[in-house]
Amino acid sequence: MILRALICGLAAAVLLVQPATAQDRRVAVTFDDLPFQTTDEVLCDPTRLMKTTEDFVAMLKPLDTKGTAFVNEGKVCEVERSSLLPRVLKVWLDGGLDLGNHTFSHINIHRNTAEAYLADLDAGATYTRAALEARGGRLHWFRHPYLFTGETQEKHDVLAAGLAERAYTVAPVTIDNNDWMFADVYRKAEQIGDEGLKTRIGAAYVAHMTTVLDFFEPYSAEITGGREPAQVLLLHANSLNQTYYPQIHALYLARGYRFVPLEEALADPIYQHPDTYVRAAGISWLHRWTRTDGRPIRWEPEPPAWIVAANKAPASELQGVANAP
Ligand SMILES: [Zn+2]
Repeated sequence: MILRALICGLAAAVLLVQPATAQDRRVAVTFDDLPFQTTDEVLCDPTRLMKTTEDFVAMLKPLDTKGTAFVNEGKVCEVERSSLLPRVLKVWLDGGLDLGNHTFSHINIHRNTAEAYLADLDAGATYTRAALEARGGRLHWFRHPYLFTGETQEKHDVLAAGLAERAYTVAPVTIDNNDWMFADVYRKAEQIGDEGLKTRIGAAYVAHMTTVLDFFEPYSAEITGGREPAQVLLLHANSLNQTYYPQIHALYLARGYRFVPLEEALADPIYQHPDTYVRAAGISWLHRWTRTDGRPIRWEPEPPAWIVAANKAPASELQGVANAP
């Protein structure tokens, strides 16, 4: 009886594992908000910003992510920009990553005209384009800040036409996950020097990324009739990922993913799917396609309540909020 139960258990375990191995899983990883999600102080300090950048890229390099990183040129202090940005971007390119435009100022289309948005996009191309062209590359990737693509049909269409006219390729996101929220709480824990809390936030982050994948894998296969499409993972360049990205990377490898360049992921036919979604919401393209197909959206898991609360709290109240029962 025990043996039979064991064999049944084993068979069930094999069945559970099989879908993972049967799928050809691919992911393109992207890092937004370059040069780094950090304080203005660091963004104005050449020594600290270079060190932060070098450490992040040194962490990524041995993992061979084939990633693409999206730049907000305006985040670097104006006085330092012309000398510092070329050096920062060179580190990323030397690390084997591609670069894209994420607008100059991380502009919010909901609060601006489409014309102002396109002007901000153009202003954000100066150093990134030069850095790419200096080594025979071309600036063509674009990632919408907040994943906002225009909340009215008119703005949406003006943006889309403006991007096409400039020969940009939009970089959609399928695996959206709120890593920025964990990173904000992590930065506050760094400010107050609470190492125990930093570890708890990191563990919660890795667990959350697992539940997000558990959700998006079958959800994405519903759009394609059972096949998991090549995914595009959105992450941000910040201190949380400096420490925890290797664990996220290992999580994907353990689930059978191959890391591919963005252009290879976007060659998947799903990225030709019509998208008629126009709302004031920055959401996964999987949701946009689901809605376009006339099916109801099911939302991905939210971060734990204590992370959501800690994200809203100032650093001075962080410990009280994070340790609340
Ligand atoms: Zn961003």
